[in-house]
Amino acid sequence: MQFPVEKLINTARAAREKAYAPYSGFSVGAALLTQAGRLYSGCNIENASYGLSICAERVALFKAVSNGEREFAALAVIWDDREYCAPCGACRQVLAEFAPDLAVYMCNDRGDYRVQTVAGLLPEAFQLKGEETVDREASRSGPVRVTEPVER
Ligand SMILES: [Zn+2]
Repeated sequence: MQFPVEKLINTARAAREKAYAPYSGFSVGAALLTQAGRLYSGCNIENASYGLSICAERVALFKAVSNGEREFAALAVIWDDREYCAPCGACRQVLAEFAPDLAVYMCNDRGDYRVQTVAGLLPEAFQLKGEETVDREASRSGPVRVTEPVER
């Protein structure tokens, strides 16, 4: 399937307009494309207690994952600065959990970009020793059935 990078970047740019960034003044938008061609967007959401703020990339990823998505193709991230917008270390680690091969389009305010994979941005990402941190087969096996307690 073909997907134009301009559309990915435009989705991230539109998400940037929703940013809540009264403290840093940096509005960031992200757009995450799934392997099935669906798009999830996110913006940074800051908080008066700074440590509780969250980045646009993680908002987009968490929206997608909470909607059942597990397979990702590309991420665009854009802000309102001349420099290319590189994901922070926390976002790199979270993205590596699901998609180390993900193509990350790091954009500047004009929509010019550099591309790098998550693994390229975060070599030797943390993972639980010797095994995948996510049982991907189990996570795809359909909804969990809730069972009732056995009557006595
Ligand atoms: Zn981040």
